Amino acid sequence: MVTRKEDFSRWYLDTIQQADLMDYSPVRGCMIFKPNGYELWEHIQEAFNKRFKEEGVRNAYFPMLIPENFFQKEKDHIEGFSPELPWVTEAAGEKLEERLALRPTSETVIGDAYSRWIQSYRDLPLEINQWANVFRWEKRTLPFLRTSEFLWQEGHTVHATAEEAEARTQRMLDIYAEEVEGLLAIPVFKGEKTPSERFAGAERTYSIEAMMQDTKCVQAGTSHYMGTKFAEAFDIRYLNPDNEHVLAYTTSWGVSTRLIGAMIMVHSDDQGLVLPPRMAPQQVVMIPVGPWQKNPEIMETLEKINAELRQRGFRTVIDDSDNRPGFKFNEWELRGAPLRIEIGPRDLENQKAIIKMRDLEDKEEVALDQVVERVVEALDEMQVRLLEKARAFNEANIYTNIDTLEELEAHIKSKRAEGEYPGWVLAGWDGTEETEALIKERTGFTTRNIPFEGMVEPKSTCIVTGKPSKVTVWLARAY
Ligand code: AMP
Repeated sequence: MVTRKEDFSRWYLDTIQQADLMDYSPVRGCMIFKPNGYELWEHIQEAFNKRFKEEGVRNAYFPMLIPENFFQKEKDHIEGFSPELPWVTEAAGEKLEERLALRPTSETVIGDAYSRWIQSYRDLPLEINQWANVFRWEKRTLPFLRTSEFLWQEGHTVHATAEEAEARTQRMLDIYAEEVEGLLAIPVFKGEKTPSERFAGAERTYSIEAMMQDTKCVQAGTSHYMGTKFAEAFDIRYLNPDNEHVLAYTTSWGVSTRLIGAMIMVHSDDQGLVLPPRMAPQQVVMIPVGPWQKNPEIMETLEKINAELRQRGFRTVIDDSDNRPGFKFNEWELRGAPLRIEIGPRDLENQKAIIKMRDLEDKEEVALDQVVERVVEALDEMQVRLLEKARAFNEANIYTNIDTLEELEAHIKSKRAEGEYPGWVLAGWDGTEETEALIKERTGFTTRNIPFEGMVEPKSTCIVTGKPSKVTVWLARAY
C-alpha cells in the first residue's frame, strides 16, 4: 500500500478498497456501499436520529421525483442546482409532458406539501427530517466524499418567527458539531459561509468544516436559514393570532455519507483504516494464537470473553479461520478494528491475555479476569485519543500570522518545497466577491467559513487589499 506522504489520494482509495467498504458502480460517480461501509452509515443514522427525536423532529419520506415547474419557483435555487440535475424525460415508452428531476435536495417538494399542511400558528413549528438518497451530477467525484448519488438526512422546519427559525438553524449546527466530534472523533470548525458559498436560496448558511490529514478541508455539515424566501416561493403562510395571513420562516440542514470519507481521511494510517470505536462494525476482534486447535481451553476462554462483551452491547468477532495469526492481525488492521485480543497457550498458563489497540504500537498484558473491564475502558480511551490527536494535528497546521496574499503564496511554495502540506490560514477579508475570487485564483485556497464571534482572534486587515477587514475567515484548499 502506498503511504499518505507518497500519494494521499491513492492512499485513500487503497484504504477504502482494502477495508472492503465500497465498490464502484457502472454509472460514473455513483458507488456501492458494501456491508462494512453501509454499517458506518447505520451508526451515524442511529446517533443522529436519537438527537433529532430528542429535539421533537420526526421522520417522514417525500418522493424522489420533482416536477420541473417546482424548480422555477425559487430563482436562486434553480440557478444553483440546475447544472447538476439529472432528468427523467420518458416513462413506459412515452415522453413525459413535464420533465421530472431526481431530487438534489427537497426544499421544493417539501415546501409544496407544507403550504397545504400549515394553516394556523397552531400548526407551528413544523419540524420533519427525511433520510434519503439525492443526486447531484458532480464533475469531480471521490468515493464517500463527493458522489453523484449520495445518502443523507435533510431536516426541514417551519417557524412563526425569524428568531425561532434562526435558533433552530444554530441548534442543529451545534448538534452536528457535537455528534461529529463525539461519534466520529472529528474536531470541527463552526462558522458562517460567505455569500458565494451559501446554499442556493438561503439567507444564511452555517457549516462545520474539518481538516483532513493532507490539511485539505471537508465541509462536514450545513444548516441553512431561509428567512421567508422559500415560504414566498411555495406560499407557506399561517393565520396568526390576529387573524392575518403571514409568511412563515423556514430552515433546512443536512449531513451526508461524506462524513464517512472525512472520518477515514482524518484517522487512518499507512497500515490502513482506523475507526473510532463507536463507529467500528467490529469493535473487538479475538484471535487465538499458537497451536490453539490442540488446546480447546483457548477457544473456550475467548468464547467466554466474547459472550460477556456481547452482553454489554459490544460488536465482537472471534477469528477462528485457518489463516496464520500474522495474516489475521494484518487483515483486521486493514479493516480498522479498534481492539484485538490475542490468547495463546503460554498466555493461558499465565492467566493473561494480550490487548493491542489499532492506533498504538505497544501491546498490553491483562489478567484474564480483568479483560472485559479493560476492553471497555480501552475503547473509551481510544475514542477520546483519536479526537485529541486530530485536534493536535489541526493546531499544528493552522497559520494565523499570514497577512498578505504574497505571504500566503510564499508560504504555500515553501511548504511544497519541504514536502509539507500548506494547512489552513486565518485571514482578514474585506467581504467582496472580487477579493474572494482573487485569493482562489492566486493560491487555490477558498473561503471555508467565518468563525462565530469569540471563537478566534479577529484579523484587522484584508489579506488582499490591506485595508480594514470586514470579517475574519478560514482559508484552505478543499475537497
Ligand atoms: P447542501 O445541501 O449543499 O448544504 O449539502 C448538505 C450536506 O451534503 C453537506 O454536509 C455537504 O457536505 C453534503 N454534500 C454535498 N454534496 C455532496 C456530494 N456530492 N457527495 C456527498 N456529500 C455531499
